Amino acid sequence: MSVDLIKHIKLGFNFATSMVDPEQDFLPYWGIVYDGKNSLVHGRIDNCDPPFCWMEIILLNRKLTGTRQAEEVEKGLRKWCQTDFHPDGLRYPSHKSGSKHVYCFLHGLAYVLDAMVSWYELTKENWVKTKIDSMIAGLRRIASEANFYADLTQEEDLYGGGLYFPFNNYVPEKIWDPNKYSQINCYELASSGTFILPLTRYYEITGDEKAKEFAEGLTKYILTQSYLYGFDGRFIGHFHRNMWSIVGILKYAHLVNNEEYFQRARQIYQFAEGLGSNFGWFPEMVALKDPSLEYCETCCIYDMIYGALVLAQAGSDEHWDRVSRYTKNHLLKSQFQNTSMIEDHNLAEKLLGGFSGWTQVNDYFTRDGKIFICGCCSWHGIKALHYIWEAITQRTNNSTYINLLLDKEDNDVIIRTSLPEKGQIEIELKHPAELYLRIPIWARNDLVAKYNGRIVSPEWKESYLRFKDVKLGDKIQVNFSVPEYREKVKISGREFLVEWLGDMVMQIEPKGKFLPLY
Ligand SMILES: [Zn+2]
Repeated sequence: MSVDLIKHIKLGFNFATSMVDPEQDFLPYWGIVYDGKNSLVHGRIDNCDPPFCWMEIILLNRKLTGTRQAEEVEKGLRKWCQTDFHPDGLRYPSHKSGSKHVYCFLHGLAYVLDAMVSWYELTKENWVKTKIDSMIAGLRRIASEANFYADLTQEEDLYGGGLYFPFNNYVPEKIWDPNKYSQINCYELASSGTFILPLTRYYEITGDEKAKEFAEGLTKYILTQSYLYGFDGRFIGHFHRNMWSIVGILKYAHLVNNEEYFQRARQIYQFAEGLGSNFGWFPEMVALKDPSLEYCETCCIYDMIYGALVLAQAGSDEHWDRVSRYTKNHLLKSQFQNTSMIEDHNLAEKLLGGFSGWTQVNDYFTRDGKIFICGCCSWHGIKALHYIWEAITQRTNNSTYINLLLDKEDNDVIIRTSLPEKGQIEIELKHPAELYLRIPIWARNDLVAKYNGRIVSPEWKESYLRFKDVKLGDKIQVNFSVPEYREKVKISGREFLVEWLGDMVMQIEPKGKFLPLY
């Protein structure tokens, strides 16, 4: 029953290339709340970020599998992605759903920017870079500078500094039009920080100083001026907007080596860890209603996986175990994989591979029997799969690191696992190298390592077993026992009995009424 990430990634490709409308140049359908009867209709969000998100999924999939499938869909999406840009650099999506207002929804633009950064990273298409640069300039122009007392000089203004967006909807050429289009509250304000991750990624790829300065300004505002986060890291509001900002700050602080920002973001991240489960379920909203009524958005799982990857790469060893647990359990359980859940066969086939916006701890359905598959969660779920795939292995000079016990074959290595039923990992390298194999915390006690069939005692380098001078064709095998145990836990205000085998959840009691996940 070992986890095959490629299978899940291919399902994600099915979602992005099927949830489109051939009648409208393959305009995406953002998603659906399915109640047993309804079918797909276009909505306000379809031309907002989905064309860009769907493009990223297609390009990521192509890089990994080399597929040329769905080129016609890609052509249509490219067309959508080139429309509705204003000379000011922002994009004001025209709506096909009858909405009469034209405005730039900034939260959606963070998705667009992030997807375009990946697009540029993957293809180096010049027009994409031009759009990114003018979008960053446009956003910077409309960002407000935090300053409580406008007449103070920079030196006098102890609390000032930092950049933010006072409203979430921006009207072209009207500056902010708060009466008509938007209001400020903690829910919306947290969106300012969602640009930090795409800006940081762009800086990482290109060295663009403007992107760095902008990320720095937003970070400063979020951490020191917004009052969104308490002294101990607590916050209320929309989990994903907050944590997308915070993992952006983790990434930014790690990249520029700012320990103060890193520790503060880590504290907020740790508060978020405590809001959900240790297998990847996290609530959509924090403290705005009775927590026992919350559902999990896959976007939140993405945030927590992304943050755990940054922390792990920054040296927090236990976060590799968290990545593994979140991935093997609630991330994969959130993917729509069982078409019998939906009577309309055509619709079910289109949704195959999408990710849920509202899972219960142990039910794919909501309490009133609905399924919610949406664009933000599908995009984030599929992105998470790619990031995890990348992070399984890492090659540096003459060394190959294996960080996660997941099956993988690429140009460097073949990893086969028999988890969770059997604690066995088999590895072959495709280049001679020194091999470092990370062993999860729970598997370190009774370990047997074999090198070409002979028992050996490799030395430990922290949590990694080190195999020197591994040659082409050499076979490494590691065996360990897989612990089986139950734990009583409280998740979002409700008690559950969770049965584990290694780091996979086998069962949870109580089970949901419609389609239990475990
Ligand atoms: Zn979502």
